[in-house]
Amino acid sequence: MLTKNKNLINDLKKQLSKENVLTTLEERYAYSQDASNLKDIKNIADAVVFVENIEQIQNVVKIANKYKIPIICRGAGTNVVGACTTEHGGIILNFSKMNKILEINPENMTARVQPGLILGDLQKEVEKFGLFYPPDPSNLKVSTIGGSIAQSSGGAKSFKYGTTKDYILSLTVVMANGEILQTGSNTIKNATGYNLSTLFVGSEGTLGIITEAVLKLIPKPEARAVMMSYFDTVESAIKAVNTIIDNRIYPATIDFMDKNAICTVEKFYPANLLTDKECALVIEVDGFKNSIEYQRKIIVNILESSGSSAIQYSTNDEEYEKIWMARRSSMGACTKLRPNVTTDDVIVPRENLAKLVKGIQNICEKYNLITCLVGHVGDGSVHPQIPIDYEDKVEYENYKLAKNEIYQLTASLDGILSGEHGVGYAKKDYINMVINPTALDYMRKIKKTFDPDNILNPYKIF
Ligand SMILES: Cc1cc2nc3c(=O)[nH]c(=O)nc-3n(C[C@H](O)[C@H](O)[C@H](O)COP(=O)(O)OP(=O)(O)OC[C@H]3O[C@@H](n4cnc5c(N)ncnc54)[C@H](O)[C@@H]3O)c2cc1C
Repeated sequence: MLTKNKNLINDLKKQLSKENVLTTLEERYAYSQDASNLKDIKNIADAVVFVENIEQIQNVVKIANKYKIPIICRGAGTNVVGACTTEHGGIILNFSKMNKILEINPENMTARVQPGLILGDLQKEVEKFGLFYPPDPSNLKVSTIGGSIAQSSGGAKSFKYGTTKDYILSLTVVMANGEILQTGSNTIKNATGYNLSTLFVGSEGTLGIITEAVLKLIPKPEARAVMMSYFDTVESAIKAVNTIIDNRIYPATIDFMDKNAICTVEKFYPANLLTDKECALVIEVDGFKNSIEYQRKIIVNILESSGSSAIQYSTNDEEYEKIWMARRSSMGACTKLRPNVTTDDVIVPRENLAKLVKGIQNICEKYNLITCLVGHVGDGSVHPQIPIDYEDKVEYENYKLAKNEIYQLTASLDGILSGEHGVGYAKKDYINMVINPTALDYMRKIKKTFDPDNILNPYKIF
């Protein structure tokens, strides 16, 4: 081990207890990738540390500044853009021991939480008070509050309820120089000065270390139901989405699965999905118990008159979970098709959605790639999941060409390269396709102001 690294490890062990500093090759390797499964990560972490309080975080920041070494925050590592990868080495700051709910305040409808708290655990606890925290990045049983704030996560419920950014009232942040910054307030509204909280939402750990968050909660809808509506063409499915919205119906979710996604899920996680159909919409309605059947009837009428050829719907919790499990399993199912799987996230104004979906299917066909398309189409958001073999040089080259074309198509349709997954390492070379140079320049200036020595998750986003 180099002397610099030895000293670094000694310093870390002095500040944190021994079991909170991981240093073996295997341990450092295991924490150097994330769910993005990127091919070209050339370096691994120098150390992995588990922090238990703000003072320890400040001490780690001091050490990182002393050795001019990166700090890469890590929640559950489920981001899919290489936001936690370690191309430049560094200290992985793991929050799994800062995972508590510090307060649920039913009167104010707020929760004060630590960054390592699992989203699903928060949801379960607030539901005991009849409250609801809607952001659900499809893997809420593992992903953390800190990671979902830093990644500006969305998910299936964002059509009706918005994304993580809409639920952040206040953040406590350790800055790159060790100072503690408090953003926002505990109030539901705040027009007092710049909204610094939003700067940290989606900052991917590049501007500061989130150590606490006050979240807005809303009343939990009394009842909910979900349906799968099948179509024989993508165009008719998208038309149905627009007709539902034109009729002023406001489902919690309008998600999409194409034929490949349906067939792949059904093959590996059978859920009685109809594999002879071209695509399906997954639509959830919620609200007062006696409104569910009313909403369902109106939506079924619209779906049938828009050409839906079959509709399955949940009548109890078991059926509800079964449909959702099928939708959530699409990426897991894709991993069984090839040794690697990539998932992407592009979004366009809804009027251009059909062109985007058909365009992505055509591009993948042109490059001989399988694609399983899912997405939150109520928002205009599409996730092409592309299973490939990185060792197959031709396939990998084709994948890179297809990715570039998908981004060009998205930009030409007035879209943007991520609605909810972020940029990370995977997309940083492409963001100038959609972000204007002046805006990019101001983003770089913000980074420089917050983190002049480039300690915090360097070379991510841009
Ligand atoms: C199967 C699957 C499905 C998914 N579906 C969706 C979806 O539908 N919608 C969606 O939006 N996302 C989706 N994602 C992406 C992913 O779940 C989210 O990005 C997730 O919320 C990240 O949480 P995490 O705890 O895993 O964060 P991590 O991956 O650990 O970290 C994400 C980023 O946050 C930073 N970070 C973590 N903690 C802190 C902190 N305390 N302070 C500062 N920065 C911090 C990290 O440095 C990194 O940049 C999916 C992922 C998978 C694997």
